[in-house]
Amino acid sequence: MEAAVFDAPFALRLEERPTPLPTRGEVQVAVDAAGLCAGDLYIYLGKNPYVSYPRIGGHEIAGRVSALGPDTIGPALGTPVVVEPFIGCGHCFPCRVQKPNCCANLQIIGVHREGGFAESVTAPVDRLHVIPDGMTPFLASFVEPVAIGVQACRRGEVTAVDTVLILGAGPIGLAIAEVALARGAKVYIADIARDRLDIAAQLGAVPLEAGGGLPQEVMRLTGGEGMPVVIEATGNVKAMEQTAGLVAAGGRIVVVGLVGQGVPVSWPGLDLTRKEMTILGSRASTGCFPESLDLLARGAIRYPDIATGFRLSEAPSVFADLAQNTSALHKAVFLKELG
Ligand SMILES: [Zn+2]
Ligand SMILES: [Zn+2]
Repeated sequence: MEAAVFDAPFALRLEERPTPLPTRGEVQVAVDAAGLCAGDLYIYLGKNPYVSYPRIGGHEIAGRVSALGPDTIGPALGTPVVVEPFIGCGHCFPCRVQKPNCCANLQIIGVHREGGFAESVTAPVDRLHVIPDGMTPFLASFVEPVAIGVQACRRGEVTAVDTVLILGAGPIGLAIAEVALARGAKVYIADIARDRLDIAAQLGAVPLEAGGGLPQEVMRLTGGEGMPVVIEATGNVKAMEQTAGLVAAGGRIVVVGLVGQGVPVSWPGLDLTRKEMTILGSRASTGCFPESLDLLARGAIRYPDIATGFRLSEAPSVFADLAQNTSALHKAVFLKELG
């Protein structure tokens, strides 16, 4: 099969690989669509601490069941599915309390094992979700990133009574915004990039200019109270440290953005008690695929409209372009059938 393989940082090569065979409890999925995520770009840039090279990336995978492992019961051959890429060990504390997304021995398809930038991929049968009738593989490839938005909104307990401020209008920030909007919340989103804010506004969020003037603007908008929910999706330390001054007393801060290993982030200690603010981490997703699939199926998520489809053979140039300029594209999806 054809595969796009990360050989080393800044080296992505198209390669002929043997088609992977499913072992017991696994299925083989013929890939129809695989989204390019910031995580993949990090592998390309050599900034993903979990990956070993060579590796086939791609964890936002939609396709069809093409083989079942020995003695494995699963969906019929040809069934359209999405693959949930996180595989918990099932034994550690987080796995025992139903948080396999924080598993101490987490395996991610496309990071720790071969992913979907290929014609076929294998996955444990319990990681499959059947796609509703009529949903295209292109749209289905968004189930994973939208699930990250679902997880963040679950962590922040976002409901229709909430006003939510999201820091960062990249793909994940926009996914969070659309999930929060679908829940009926009022959504503000802050970024420094005008084009990203324009998209956020089209999706129904109120755009705000990020930076030093943001706290003042937030206080003006909320009558001096601050935001009930602040969701951090930039990974920028300064933005993260700003959250304590943006959140209302009694409010929730959800941190989705990643900072480098060992990089400290500080919050004013007195605010923790004075505001009784809740600071929550949110990692990838767990149990969020069904809600994400439902949101996409009923057209509540419009971000895919501004994504661009490519052939897998274009992967080397797409990654090279993104490495030059990360805002060259809003979102890329590699497709078996273009247009
Ligand atoms: Zn991703
Ligand atoms: Zn575990």
